[in-house]
Amino acid sequence: MKIAFLDLAVPSVVERHRYHRALSKSLKSGIFVLGEQVARFEEEFASEIHSEFAVGTGNGMDAIEIGIRSLGLGPGDEIITSPMTAYATVLAIVRSGATPVLADIDPDTGLLDLVDVSNKITQRTRAVILVHLYGHVSRMDEWLALVGGAGIFLIEDCAQSHLAKWDTKPSGSFGDFGAFSFYPTKNLGGFGDGGAITSSSRDFTEQARRLRNYGQTTRYLHEKGGLNSRLDEIQAGFLRAKLPQIGAQNRERGRIARYYHDHLSSEFFSVLRQPREQENHVYHLFVVTSAHRDALAEHMKEKGIGTLIHYPVVAHQQSAFTSLGLGEISLPKSETFAHQALSIPCRPGLKRRELEHVVTVMNTFRPS
Ligand SMILES: *Cc1c(COP(=O)(O)O)cnc(C)c1O
Repeated sequence: MKIAFLDLAVPSVVERHRYHRALSKSLKSGIFVLGEQVARFEEEFASEIHSEFAVGTGNGMDAIEIGIRSLGLGPGDEIITSPMTAYATVLAIVRSGATPVLADIDPDTGLLDLVDVSNKITQRTRAVILVHLYGHVSRMDEWLALVGGAGIFLIEDCAQSHLAKWDTKPSGSFGDFGAFSFYPTKNLGGFGDGGAITSSSRDFTEQARRLRNYGQTTRYLHEKGGLNSRLDEIQAGFLRAKLPQIGAQNRERGRIARYYHDHLSSEFFSVLRQPREQENHVYHLFVVTSAHRDALAEHMKEKGIGTLIHYPVVAHQQSAFTSLGLGEISLPKSETFAHQALSIPCRPGLKRRELEHVVTVMNTFRPS
């Protein structure tokens, strides 16, 4: 039995037809950039995220950079985040001109550690970027209390947590802004690149709308340097067609995760802890940790099961960041986690017998 880690093909005729209709709408309108599809998607997405506004961007990394700059942050400002995230989170801080400061993680979840973040707050700290890693939204009351007490901004990297809630509010509605990616593999993914920023501040949103479009205020007038980072009409149309399905797909991911939690059992690996109380997890990724990670991945590959590692190299050990002096810091929990984490198949469409196969193969693993 072959079980691919990812499968983004659209086998359903009904579903393909829905996307063809969305494409036809754009082809007929003759408008391909910043038209009605983007405006409608921004409204619909903002409403799902319980935010006043959403601003479509070219991708998730630009969403973070544009958001940071729209808060007025840049050179001389420190922004604290996690080294256990997509490289894009930290690169976006660097591109904004601000200084990334990395804090360690909680190895039970892979999420940023609140105590270590509070220890790293200095006079120059202006924001924390909380990454809802793997789709897990946790301790929002405590994060809000921390940033409120310190008088700094809270930024949410929601690239893996579309529609994941904490208590009754979705991720992306807690912070000064939320940044989303619609890269094809994400829980809400387009058929190409895309991203969005959510916010409930009108001034911030206007600034973000300008920055994504070369800093243009009115046509051909530019007060600030900006980016060219617009969500395009065709992607917005596809995302509008997909958005109503994401709740059900997240629930399906949740059922798969529950099956794994109920059945995976071994002394040679551990599963990350389940969400509790007000927490919610939309299982963009299902991750186990093992001291024998590479052997486990090899064993699964031999049995036809695809796995990936999120993430094998922590941000402070990326050679691109050596010049920033990040290489000198030590964050032992994230470094160990990077050597032990393994993502196993968790996507809508996986069949019961496929899950049984994954469990059997994993539970019978013995390191040599
Ligand atoms: C995917 C991802 C990004 C970057 O999004 P892109 O659309 O690929 O630029 C940022 N942060 C996290 C946590 C991600 O998973």
